[in-house]
Amino acid sequence: MRNVPIALCAIALCSIVSPATAHAQARKVYISVDMEGISGVNSDNQTSAAGAEYGRARRLMVEDANAAIRGAFDGGATEVVVNDSHGSQRNLLPEDLDPRVRLISHSFKRHGMMEGLDSTYDAVMFVGYHAKAGSPRGVFAHTGSGVLRDLQINGVSLGEGGMNALFARWYGVPVVLVTGDDVAVEEQKTTVPNVRGVIVKRAINSRAVELRPLLEARREIQEAAKAAVAAARKAPPERLARYTVRMEMRDQTIPEVAAAFREIRLVNPTTVEFTRESMPDAYRLIRVIYRFINTD
Ligand SMILES: [Zn+2]
Repeated sequence: MRNVPIALCAIALCSIVSPATAHAQARKVYISVDMEGISGVNSDNQTSAAGAEYGRARRLMVEDANAAIRGAFDGGATEVVVNDSHGSQRNLLPEDLDPRVRLISHSFKRHGMMEGLDSTYDAVMFVGYHAKAGSPRGVFAHTGSGVLRDLQINGVSLGEGGMNALFARWYGVPVVLVTGDDVAVEEQKTTVPNVRGVIVKRAINSRAVELRPLLEARREIQEAAKAAVAAARKAPPERLARYTVRMEMRDQTIPEVAAAFREIRLVNPTTVEFTRESMPDAYRLIRVIYRFINTD
């Protein structure tokens, strides 16, 4: 029922709804935090847990997350849940996070970067996101894990941000903010045209970056998160009849194992395809294939 005033507001009443009235509504915000697109992160010895500078990157990650959290509460959020979405998904330390949030931690999740999202949320934010696999310039460009060359859903090539936006749409929760390098932000706008973007660094090539001053980037994340949550409007769930997923891998080992599932078709030695009738269901199988089939 709380959707009714929001829908009316979109049509005509915005000017007479005071900010205090808008903030009185429950606003539950979900923040998925990756690491490659975090302010100041610029080397793979930071993003790998075994890397010499991993501890620094964890601190940088929590700073961007906290900036988005502060902004979300400033914009009227009454509840914020953070999902650690990088690698082990145990990077964010709860003692360093804004004390108002709950943290979803550990990578043993069926829905990975979107674990726990459902239709009770009012807005989604992607913090620290990166460009998709195959992007010639995005810093740390990849999709899911290093094993994928390309991911397509219903014929459209998508990165993590695109795939996660489809997941959010299934529940009718708008993606309102993305932060990362300029390539990641532009890429997200192709799948979510109205999304607010904060570019925290400019990719020079797949390794080199021009980093913005940290305090300036975090301030912009906070301000954008505030505006994004204040303006967030839920949409009806967007549910397609089917989700046909094509995964082109870097080599044939995973496809060879994945073909043991009856519904997974081998398109060629390095490419598998399957069809599911719901996005969460498709998402689970994508994750099983790239993350949980271990061919080492
Ligand atoms: Zn990551």
